[in-house]
Amino acid sequence: MFRPDAIQGATAREPGTVDYRLARQALVSEFRKGRLAQHEVCDAHPELVRAARQLGEPTSIECPICERDNVVLVSYVFGPGLPAFGRCISSKDELAKLKRQPADMACYVVEVCPTCSWNHLARVFPVGRARRS
Ligand SMILES: [Zn+2]
Repeated sequence: MFRPDAIQGATAREPGTVDYRLARQALVSEFRKGRLAQHEVCDAHPELVRAARQLGEPTSIECPICERDNVVLVSYVFGPGLPAFGRCISSKDELAKLKRQPADMACYVVEVCPTCSWNHLARVFPVGRARRS
């Protein structure tokens, strides 16, 4: 099953201390220097690639690896009451609805290239109105 730790960049997650764009640049630069093979950076989970093709939000950012396609953004929300593999967000309404839930959830926005399976975490933000005592 797809899980957040299957995303490139997500394992280095330490909220507030990691700039995902820096981590992404470092990875791309390692690839360009030949220190990482394409299969090491283009390892998107099949579920993620399918979500990218069906629900991905188009961008004007060229894929840094294959340079043949633009990357798309896929959002997953993880949290209590949601499947362990997260809920893939298919519309802004769906996200707005989750934001009103009284729970502590996190939305992972992932950059994916549907052509070569490059993937990297773009950002993570909190979702839901967690109860505060
Ligand atoms: Zn690509």
